[in-house]
Amino acid sequence: MSTDMASTVSECIFCRIAKGEIPVDFVYRDESVVVIRDAAPQAPVHLLVLPVRHIVSAAEVSDPNIWTLIMGRAVETARGMGLDERGFRMVINTGEQGGQTVPHLHLHLLSGRNFSWPPG
Ligand code: 5GP
Ligand code: ZN
Repeated sequence: MSTDMASTVSECIFCRIAKGEIPVDFVYRDESVVVIRDAAPQAPVHLLVLPVRHIVSAAEVSDPNIWTLIMGRAVETARGMGLDERGFRMVINTGEQGGQTVPHLHLHLLSGRNFSWPPG
């Protein structure tokens, strides 16, 4: 890893949260994945599922096990909260046109209202 990349990772807000450097009320946490509440919720339930390991975006994923980790944890969390009864939405914004604003892979788990399609 280059020095530039090391400093980027050490400043990454989601790395700092996932490593416990910034105290947050974790919805779920283990050594490889965490679930937190979005700071600016767009629905009654708006959670973020992120790998502890720094991966910039979905486009950078090389290990397919990451999908089991992230999506599996999202669905498990949704079921555990009873969100599967009425439904939920999972979103992974990717890159500039995908609307990604934090460059650390994360899945949005949204629920508690009707969502429209197509997305904006
Ligand atoms: P993106 O736009 O990259 O798909 O999603 C980033 C999300 O992270 C946004 O919904 C934003 O509200 C949320 N977010 C940004 N900074 C923080 C933070 O420091 N803590 C939490 N919990 N959420 C954050
Ligand atoms: Zn990071």
